[in-house]
Order: sequence, then structure tokens, then C-alpha cells
Amino acid sequence: MKPAPFAYHRPDTVEEACETLAHYGEDGKILAGGQSLAALLALRITHFENLVDVSMIEELKGVDVRDGTVWIKAATTHAAVGRDADVACAVPLLTLVTPHIGHFQIRNRGTLGGAVAHGDPAGEFPTVALTLDAEIQAASTSGTRTIPATEFFTGLWETALAPGEVLTAVGFPVRGPRSGFGFHEFARRHGDFAIAGATVALQLDDDTVSRCGIGLLGLGSTPLRAAPVEAEITGRPVAELDADEIGRLAMAGLTEVPVDQQGSARYRKRVGAAMVARAFADAVEDAARGEAHV
Ligand code: FAD
Repeated sequence: MKPAPFAYHRPDTVEEACETLAHYGEDGKILAGGQSLAALLALRITHFENLVDVSMIEELKGVDVRDGTVWIKAATTHAAVGRDADVACAVPLLTLVTPHIGHFQIRNRGTLGGAVAHGDPAGEFPTVALTLDAEIQAASTSGTRTIPATEFFTGLWETALAPGEVLTAVGFPVRGPRSGFGFHEFARRHGDFAIAGATVALQLDDDTVSRCGIGLLGLGSTPLRAAPVEAEITGRPVAELDADEIGRLAMAGLTEVPVDQQGSARYRKRVGAAMVARAFADAVEDAARGEAHV
């Protein structure tokens, strides 16, 4: 199928994009890499009269490291994130997950801002943003604001962005010394959305866990944090912790696990527990290595 007809707008600046969106109201929609939206339009699951393409806006591209935060601008492609040296050094979890997002053609077109704004529950970038307590910057004709990732994902493909707002950048904290990261996901074929997966960010103080973020992919209607188990781990000596037990605990409170042709909720939870356990073990090993940070 082909999309229903629409008018195409290509603003050169964020200000112009905000004005165009404000002008068209509910009939306007942002287009970035098109790797999620184009499929929804072609299948006629959704329709907009006016598409506002932000993928060519120069001020929306690139990576800035400022005051302990790595700001990745919204129209930076997945591929550019994956090969950025500052990102690899300061936010290695992003570098770890990037090769698992679709195929290289998708990574060459898809944008970090588009992935976060789309908020797929099995999306790697949204889950990393949540795991690391990232901040999301948005602009509109009313001004700019910053939204914590923990308040951003509100429902299936729904976010805290208001109509007419452009996501401009996502800020990730620079990794600290004695921090460690792990990521595992299971998909039937490489490049498919994961059946279940986990991201872990661990911060050690001496040998005690001072912060732990556990992100879950594909296990709810939004990307999730395993908050109860994070609280249980924090403040405990890392040597006391059992990765398999953490995996099991992370699945305990899940209530909206998807059921589809990929598997039952029970199967997804079994896979999820294993992914958390593996990602946690990798994060402990990574923290023990005490990699350099910027
Ligand atoms: P678009 O598709 O252009 O837009 C997506 C949504 O975000 C739209 O609602 C749009 O209005 C909104 N939006 C875009 N940019 C902004 C902005 N700056 N401000 C506000 N709203 C904005 N993703 C994964 O995470 N993991 C996978 O394994 C994966 N596999 C895939 C496999 C296939 C075959 C395909 C086709 C896609 C896959 N994707 C996967 C999705 C891909 O990562 C998309 O690129 C991404 O989800 C959306 O980014 P985009 O730039 O293409 O956004």
C-alpha cells in the first residue's frame, strides 16, 4: 500500500519547524528518518495532511559534551551515534546497543530523536535514555523545556511531548569512574525488534552499589525500569549479589507483558530474566575494569 496524499514541508531551522507545526495544528506531523512513521503511513494506520521533515535541519545534528552531559541532537542518525568517539567513551551503553537497532539501512536513516519520540517499548535508545536518567529537550513556539526520561514514556507510542513540540536533543550523563554497563536482548533474527532485552548501568562506590539502573525492552507497553530490584540492590556490596536472582526479581512486578505471535507472557518473562542476569553480570565486570571516562 501507499500512503494517502500529504503535503511535504522542509524547514531549515527549529524555529521554522515549530512555526509550521503550530500553523497546521493536528494536521501536522514531524517526519525524521521515516523508519517508523513511513510504515505507519503506508499501512494507513495513521494519516496526516502535512509532514514536517526535520531530518535536514543542521542545528539538529551532532553531539556536544557539556558540564558532565553528552547532548545528542535529535536528527543525529543511529549510525552517527554508533560511531561517535565521545559517545563511545562517555555513554558506552549507547554504542553497545546501536548495532542491534534494525539493519544498517535503518540505522543510516533513523534518528535518535525519532526513536525516543516514537518510544517503542522494544526500542533500544528509549530504554537507554530511561536507564541512564537522561533528559529530553523540547522546543515549540511557546519556548523550550526539559523533560526527565523517567516522565517521558506515557503509553504505547505515547510520550510527554505536547502537540507542536519538536524534540531537539537528549542529554545523557557522562559515565563516572567505577561505572559499568551491560546489554543483552533476544530476537529471532538479528535486526528484528527484541522479544525481550535488558540494559544495566551500575555505579560502584568502593565495592558497594551506589546507583543501579535496570531497563527492560519488550516487556510492557513502554520501555520500563525495574525500580523495585534497583532499590533492593543499591547500597549492597556487589560481591553479595546474584545475577540470576536479580533477573528473576526484575520480572516479578511486571503486569502488562505483551502476548503475540512471538511468544506468551511467561516465555517473555523467562527470556527477560535471562537477559537481565547476563546484562547485570557484564555491568559488574565492566565496573571492575574501571574504564577511563571523559
Ligand atoms: P520517524 O519514523 O520519522 O518518526 C517516528 C515518530 O517520531 C513519529 O511520530 C514522528 O512524528 C516522531 N518524531 C521524529 N522526530 C521527532 C522530533 N525531533 N521531535 C518530535 N517528534 C519526532 N528501532 C529500534 O529501536 N530497534 C529495532 O530493533 C528496530 N528495528 C527496526 C526494523 C525495521 C525493519 C524498521 C523499518 C525499523 C526498525 N526500528 C527499530 C525503528 C527505527 O529505529 C526508527 O528509525 C526509529 O524508531 C524512528 O526514528 P526515525 O528518525 O525514523 O523517526
